[in-house]
Amino acid sequence: MDKWRAQLEGLNALLEAFRQNREAGGRLRFGRSVIVASDIATQFYCEKKLEMEHLHGEVETEAKNVGTEAHENLTEDSVKVKREQLWKDIYSDKPVFALEMPLLGKYRDVFLAGKPDCVLFARGFPLVVFEYKFSRSGVAYPSYHVQAQTYCVLLENMGFDTSKLFYAIVVADPRTRGSRELRQQVVQTVISNGAKEAVHSIDDATVYCNKFNRVNAEKDLAWALEFWKQSREAQPTSNQNKCARCEYQNHCRDSTGQTLFSNDNIC
Ligand code: SF4
Repeated sequence: MDKWRAQLEGLNALLEAFRQNREAGGRLRFGRSVIVASDIATQFYCEKKLEMEHLHGEVETEAKNVGTEAHENLTEDSVKVKREQLWKDIYSDKPVFALEMPLLGKYRDVFLAGKPDCVLFARGFPLVVFEYKFSRSGVAYPSYHVQAQTYCVLLENMGFDTSKLFYAIVVADPRTRGSRELRQQVVQTVISNGAKEAVHSIDDATVYCNKFNRVNAEKDLAWALEFWKQSREAQPTSNQNKCARCEYQNHCRDSTGQTLFSNDNIC
């Protein structure tokens, strides 16, 4: 049997197991049956905030709206294909940029899922996971790395050979709104960079190229899983600047019974 077909059959079997698991009722925190990569990233920003989102619902903010719009623009000009066609293309002779490809894998005894902005494949090998963030800071925060590395773990657990895999975190000015020019420049930069770690400044963005490191990713996942398996309570951030611009600061102070920041410190 072709490798792509065998891998796809494995994924279909996993999807069936996932459906059955979900119908039986999730055993993870908040009754969840799957842990999503973006939630793990939020844990590394502030785990308490993730808990607040679940308890009080997501609050719309301008920054989130700009980010959503920019991410929608990233898929402009893309062609929707069925899963079987995508797998055939991934294992073909031509490179493929898979946008928002749904990933699902088993990690230890839990299901992990995620949808990376883009994955570049060549002859069945995932070569680069592209993760776009829209922020003026230009900084690749630890939570961005955790999210991208979780996608890499997922690709590996789905049966892909990740020995050549890099991930590129693109921190772009929100004004670019994920424009086509930005995407083209990013791809050119990353491809001409080749297989090495580097930081590139391009117009309106900084691109961080990193080799996937399974050991680091596993360490981060182990910490994140403790929360989902209810072995510990949510940990609040100690960064007062995050609290100062947090949409849940009132709820958070109510639940912890403490003032997490002083208004004097807000800059
Ligand atoms: S107020 Fe601070 S600790 Fe509380 S959820 Fe927001 S960022 Fe986290």
